[in-house]
Amino acid sequence: MTKRTYDFAVIGAGVFGAWTAYFLRQSGASVALLDAYGPANSRASSGGETRVIRMGYGPDELYTRWAMRSLPLWRDFATRTKREIFRQTGVLWLSNDADAYLKSLCGVLAQAGVEREELKAEEIARRWPQLRFHDVTWGVLEPNSGLLLARESVQALVKELVGSGVEYLPAAAEAPSAQGKLAQIKTRTGESISAGTFVFCSGPWLPKIFPELLAERIFVTRQEVFFLGAPAGSADFRPPKMPVWLHRTHPGLPYALPDIEGRGFKIAFDLHGERFDPDAGGRVVAESSIERLREYLRQHIPVLVHAPLVETRVCQYENTWNGDFLIDRHPQFENVWIAGGGSGHGFKHGPALGEYLSQRILHGAPGEPRFSLAAKQTAQNRAVY
Ligand SMILES: Cc1cc2nc3c(=O)[nH]c(=O)nc-3n(C[C@H](O)[C@H](O)[C@H](O)COP(=O)(O)OP(=O)(O)OC[C@H]3O[C@@H](n4cnc5c(N)ncnc54)[C@H](O)[C@@H]3O)c2cc1C
Repeated sequence: MTKRTYDFAVIGAGVFGAWTAYFLRQSGASVALLDAYGPANSRASSGGETRVIRMGYGPDELYTRWAMRSLPLWRDFATRTKREIFRQTGVLWLSNDADAYLKSLCGVLAQAGVEREELKAEEIARRWPQLRFHDVTWGVLEPNSGLLLARESVQALVKELVGSGVEYLPAAAEAPSAQGKLAQIKTRTGESISAGTFVFCSGPWLPKIFPELLAERIFVTRQEVFFLGAPAGSADFRPPKMPVWLHRTHPGLPYALPDIEGRGFKIAFDLHGERFDPDAGGRVVAESSIERLREYLRQHIPVLVHAPLVETRVCQYENTWNGDFLIDRHPQFENVWIAGGGSGHGFKHGPALGEYLSQRILHGAPGEPRFSLAAKQTAQNRAVY
């Protein structure tokens, strides 16, 4: 049995853990980063191809500010690693005149100085004739937003971390059992990892690691994603002809991302699925979901109604009761922190979250009440979109 000692041990190399390790390492501290299945693995929430990065959050200024902070950090990372992990495709919000969320979003973006373009239905139909939104009367385009290559960026970040002295350990951490100050954690293969502070960024696994604390506070739900093959030779579903878009007037809350690197036009519904086990849950999409998708295509993207499904994915959201992140100290351990509850919108915020959490840990920076454990209720009532 080997024994290792660090200033910080971060458990989970998804987007939250990797960016937290990045900022902790920037302070000169020694950092271990553990993952049971590998950075941005296929079971992890960060393991997908692409994730939307948008500035708009309806009336919610906090997440607009965090997205605004994160985008330049993603861009810097892309520049220094010479990887095109950010694609400025634009993000198009589609809705109707009664949508208070979109009206507030315009106000928040205007106040924050985020560029946006308001579009009437006729203009939307003219610019994107491959789409048919009969129920949409206006839209808002964020021209400087777009998408992130999720798996590639997290894996590249972990590679960079290793180059800067972070020790990456392919290991599954056991749940800590003591109270007070935690001296070490054990891995499932019998190693002992000692650290001054432990940071659990274990995404949808958090309720399994801390069942008493989180089984009722983080709801892990099954989410299906579809990639459609566009007609041969067509550029209509790739940038620059296709932005990211979110169809807010449809009850299924569909959203789509353009075909990137030839993997297909991505489309999904932002409704919470059934409860899901991230270790053992089946990752094949249901026939009934494919039928629902075809029905949606028939109405809104007729040219793709018979398009082949070139790939599908089943991922999971790790939802808090209302969608606010959980970033707080563990109440039973003075040196254990928890960061999770990405709730289907966390990826873009990885840099801002890592920066915020490291400031709290290293410098005792004040905490945002919305991220506290105390604010986490046990009845689901989604409020952050
Ligand atoms: C289908 C889908 C679409 C989404 N779309 C968007 C989007 O468009 N934009 C956006 O911003 N966000 C989006 N999200 C949300 C975003 O992907 C997540 O909020 C984010 O990836 C969460 O990252 P994480 O680091 O908390 O968790 P994870 O990525 O799951 O990382 C946790 C890691 O911890 C490891 N781990 C767990 N237990 C242990 C242990 N005991 N020991 C060691 N390692 C352990 C796991 O292996 C895993 O790698 C989407 C999510 C899904 C599922």
